[in-house]
Amino acid sequence: MKKMTILDGKKIASDIENEISLEVQQLLSRGGRAPHLAAILVGDDGPSLTYVDNKVKACKRVGFESTLMKFSSTMAEEKLLKEIVRFNEDEDIDGFIVQLPLPAHISEEKVIETIAPEKDVDGFTNQNYGRIISPHHGLLPATPYGVMELLRRYKIPTKGKHAVVVGHSRVVGAPMGLLLAHEGQATVTQCHIDTHDLGYFTRQADILCVAVGKPNLITADMVKEGVVVVDVGINRVEDATKKRGYRLAGDVNFDEVAKKASFITPVPGGVGPMTIASLLLNTLHASKVRTEGNNKL
Ligand code: NAD
Repeated sequence: MKKMTILDGKKIASDIENEISLEVQQLLSRGGRAPHLAAILVGDDGPSLTYVDNKVKACKRVGFESTLMKFSSTMAEEKLLKEIVRFNEDEDIDGFIVQLPLPAHISEEKVIETIAPEKDVDGFTNQNYGRIISPHHGLLPATPYGVMELLRRYKIPTKGKHAVVVGHSRVVGAPMGLLLAHEGQATVTQCHIDTHDLGYFTRQADILCVAVGKPNLITADMVKEGVVVVDVGINRVEDATKKRGYRLAGDVNFDEVAKKASFITPVPGGVGPMTIASLLLNTLHASKVRTEGNNKL
């Protein structure tokens, strides 16, 4: 029987955290200071709170400083933009994130474009986005960066492979396609909600990345034998057997697709931890650039 390998994002993220911790210790022993990641959370959306908490906890594990600023969901857009400018100018902060989604009265576009690109550790600004295809990357979008790192560390070749990305959002799907095509040298097909006959495309994938937000979108009949599956989706699925009444699931029907895949990410424990690891890598990079000036962003 063919071998299937689980792409263990939790383990790889923990390896990366250990590497970062070592670098932080070296920085401190040279008289430097720990990198500092700040986060802004507007409102009290449950999943967002969890995501931000997990990021702050990860900072503690690797020895980063962290600051979490929470604001009410009624906060005015203008006030948020002012806070962002303050973070841009704060010499003690190396990088910061504004947790999305934001309340409807605040423009995400305006917010993102107010963040200084050299502190944009989520990699969301237009400048960092454009530089995905430059040989001199800025700060890469955290989730696609995490996926590329996961593929690299499992030595999964991308060059010349057919990568099919399902989803073309600004923060995940679109930059994922760009990174696979440019850094990964893959042939990329980008699918989205208006794609006719999704299965026709996904069946051709050597590498299938799914970032949609619909549980069980990808079923066994939609993939070929030996496919590498990266499931970015995070969905809450009702489950009466769980204390909290739901469980987390990706966009891929794991049990049936895993039988055909050569590699597959679980949800949870796949891409999620890699996104946080990338955020830490970006913060370390931003901090080094600011304090040592060893590499231009
Ligand atoms: P989004 O809603 O911004 O974009 C969804 C994308 O899916 C769009 O491009 C849309 O065209 C496409 N789509 C919708 N229905 C489709 C269909 N039936 N067939 C094909 N394409 C379809 O979402 P997003 O921010 O890109 O996030 C996608 C998923 O990834 C969500 O579940 C989100 O929670 C998850 N996510 C996970 C991480 C992580 O770290 N693992 C990070 C970010 C987002």
